[in-house]
Amino acid sequence: MITENNNSIFPKGEPLSKDWFTGDAFLFPLIAKDKNNEFSAGSVTFEPNARTNWHTHPKGQVLIVTEGNGFYQEKGKPIQVITKGNVVTIPENVTHWHGASATTKLVHIAITNYKEEVQVTWLQPVSDEEYNIANHQ
Ligand code: MN
Repeated sequence: MITENNNSIFPKGEPLSKDWFTGDAFLFPLIAKDKNNEFSAGSVTFEPNARTNWHTHPKGQVLIVTEGNGFYQEKGKPIQVITKGNVVTIPENVTHWHGASATTKLVHIAITNYKEEVQVTWLQPVSDEEYNIANHQ
């Protein structure tokens, strides 16, 4: 019997690409871009140790943490601990990453605006060295 995720609001969804994520991350789509909404929204689940690559959004992004604990960091700035109930507003074209801690999962809703047809530009992975700083601060 599978007891995982009994308390989660949304299903875990489908695995996200290892090209852009380290570890096991999943997306459950919630809202698609359409003629009125210039954004998409989805529930993203990061298993412990999972995180995005460094990346930017041309029109910014909002994260609403619905479960667990993890990190958010803008390049050159201190790492922020994020937890259930936190809302993170990410400016346009700011290099950043988000993800779980080494020992806890993180689930957030990501609301991501589009600039024309682009909503994210992927960069290099968050190295283990960079990630370990977050977990040992
Ligand atoms: Mn982002």
